[in-house]
Amino acid sequence: MNTHSPSRREPTEPVEFTFDWYERFLTDLLDAGYTPADYDDPLEPGEMIVRHDIDFSPRKALEMGRIEADLGIEATYFVLLNCPLYNVFYKPIRSALGELQSMGHTIGIHFSTHQYWDGEASSTAVTERVLEEREALACAVGNVSEAVSFHRPDEWLFRRSFEGFTSTYEERFFTDIAYRGDSNQRWREEHPLAGELPDKLQILTHPGLWGDEDADFETRLSNEVEAELERTRRFMHEQLVEKKYNVDEFQYGTNE
Ligand SMILES: [Zn+2]
Repeated sequence: MNTHSPSRREPTEPVEFTFDWYERFLTDLLDAGYTPADYDDPLEPGEMIVRHDIDFSPRKALEMGRIEADLGIEATYFVLLNCPLYNVFYKPIRSALGELQSMGHTIGIHFSTHQYWDGEASSTAVTERVLEEREALACAVGNVSEAVSFHRPDEWLFRRSFEGFTSTYEERFFTDIAYRGDSNQRWREEHPLAGELPDKLQILTHPGLWGDEDADFETRLSNEVEAELERTRRFMHEQLVEKKYNVDEFQYGTNE
């Protein structure tokens, strides 16, 4: 346990959405005195949670997971079960998630209320669906985090606690623990380490927004979609034309 407050160091370098920058960012956090932690126990001063919401690129998540593992950081990766761009039961994705787990990272549910309800739902209904998804994810990857992150959360989910799971948007993550998130690449305008460093920190990144080379938000999204379409075309051809049913697409790399 680290009982010292992290020391302030004003960032000088602009944010680039590259894996190299991400590695330097984590190194800076470790140098500032932060100790990695998870969602299982209350956060102590000087601790940080490293969280990822995988909206569309488990392959990029694997890249980030390797960087973290090399630095001795164990992170939590939240996955969608209802995203048209990836499927946790698809072998290459299941393998990637398994590899993340073997590095010490944890997999959890990234839950989209929008898939089930137009507006606010009862706590009972949310819990029921979340636990169903968690069970389904456990079939694919085994151990699943008690914590759940909501995808594009509406305000009714903020500061709310649920029976049966920990929400990454419950009260303590608004009051007691500072939050630095890269949504829409907003870190370009507001550096995540600018100003006074907080005692306790939750960092959220979306792996799909990152890459070997820097790219702006729109470019990154369209590149990711193109890469996924290309993989889908190849999959269709191999399965239906060439009748090769057991291809590990990672042999082709990540297209970037
Ligand atoms: Zn999301």
